[in-house]
Amino acid sequence: MTLLAALDALARELDGPLLRVGDVGFDAARRPWNLAIEQRPAAVATPAGLDDLRRILAAARESGTPIAVQPSGHGASGDLVGSVIVRTAAFDRLEVDLASGVVVVGSGVRWGAVVDALEGTAWAAPAGTSPVVSVAGYTLGGGHSWFSRTAGLGSDNLRAAWVLRPDGTHERIDDESDAEAMWALRGAGGVVGIVTALEIDLVPAPAQWGASLTFAMTDAASVIRAVRDLSAAAPSTLNVFTSSNRMPDAPMLPEEIRGRSFVTVRALSTDGAADALLDGVRAAGAVQREITGPTSPAAIAAALGEPTEPTAGRGASLALDTFDDALIDALVAFHQAPEQSPIMSIDLRMLGGALDAPRRPGFASLASASWLLHALVPNFPGAPSEPGDASIAGILALLAPAAAEQSVPTFLDPGQTLERCGTAADIDRLRAVRASADPDGVLHEGRLPR
Ligand SMILES: Cc1cc2nc3c(=O)[nH]c(=O)nc-3n(C[C@H](O)[C@H](O)[C@H](O)COP(=O)(O)OP(=O)(O)OC[C@H]3O[C@@H](n4cnc5c(N)ncnc54)[C@H](O)[C@@H]3O)c2cc1C
Repeated sequence: MTLLAALDALARELDGPLLRVGDVGFDAARRPWNLAIEQRPAAVATPAGLDDLRRILAAARESGTPIAVQPSGHGASGDLVGSVIVRTAAFDRLEVDLASGVVVVGSGVRWGAVVDALEGTAWAAPAGTSPVVSVAGYTLGGGHSWFSRTAGLGSDNLRAAWVLRPDGTHERIDDESDAEAMWALRGAGGVVGIVTALEIDLVPAPAQWGASLTFAMTDAASVIRAVRDLSAAAPSTLNVFTSSNRMPDAPMLPEEIRGRSFVTVRALSTDGAADALLDGVRAAGAVQREITGPTSPAAIAAALGEPTEPTAGRGASLALDTFDDALIDALVAFHQAPEQSPIMSIDLRMLGGALDAPRRPGFASLASASWLLHALVPNFPGAPSEPGDASIAGILALLAPAAAEQSVPTFLDPGQTLERCGTAADIDRLRAVRASADPDGVLHEGRLPR
């Protein structure tokens, strides 16, 4: 059957909407969360439930059109030409079991809903910083959170998944029933099928305490060195992010940060105040602003103000193996150079702790890395757009000698493949898992190298 005939038939069969090229609303439906990424699928389906998913699978098989599951497209890579994008919004199950510290989450649920459901409890979700990223997209790509030093990657906390296999079987799988599929689901995306729900361990966080310290940009090198030195002594209950910020003079930014440059250090402890551990950081510069006290992921999300509407942006991400004084000085000098103003922020996340000894086998791992870096080049009114590409290339070249062997798939940039996140043997193993689970290639290969 031709693609057009298959899509026409599918549109009539589905309970949920299917928008094809030329349909009203298609352009809005095909857009990913990152508006800088252009994607040209043949259609976008929003299945109403499992029956719809099965119909989409059957039509894809008959017409030879790959299915690409994309809950919201924060990780869109722009490579879905001619495929059917599947949005999972209808899969909205959310069951929190506080007695056993487990949450069951439908593949359309976003982290914000889970974080809100846990507010005021002694548990935290292994969630990323954005409340609008889907639990499925994040967890199936590894996922680094505020709690990763304490509890590992999001994927390490994946106990089980409900999967619709390409042959139409829908089942709950775990390490006992299908260890190979679970290894792949922990970081390599939906290689084995369409995930409809996930069962995830929560993080014990009986006394969440946070600190936010702000310094002048002139103190950047000494502050970042002190944060680096803290990593040797920090317990795994302490999670630390630091960032170098050059905010553009853009009207959409809050007045207190608009046009300013500064360094922030943020810490989150899961077992109470960790004030004394931060003394070395405080002594590294003149603290301009300090907030400490009991906190929660919802409070942190409110303070960070991550965008909740689709935006356009570019960036560079890298896991670092070493982070010595020379590299810190070079990075700080790089970010302060006038021509690097397109880079609004360089975020550095302290790794180690539970990340060094993953609790479950999975494709994604940050065990070989000590820092996770993301440089953000935003693209909003008032932000400099040029020479953003040169800045991205420049920071990647600067950091390349210190790059770790592997990064995590949720920190891949558009166009990068899973080769950056695993060994050649891991990629061969993934190909074998895919060949056995999806011999006809009904599911888009995602970031698996072609
Ligand atoms: C503002 C922002 C903040 C972020 N913060 C963090 C962070 O703190 N930590 C972090 O690790 N990452 C972070 N990310 C990256 C983000 O976690 C990844 O891009 C993630 O993949 C996005 O989830 P999504 O639902 O938008 O996925 P999409 O981009 O829609 O999908 C990603 C991939 O997941 C797979 N997939 C998703 N759902 C299913 C399913 N149901 N069945 C089968 N396969 C599926 C598919 O292979 C798909 O291509 C952030 C991204 C942004 C834009």
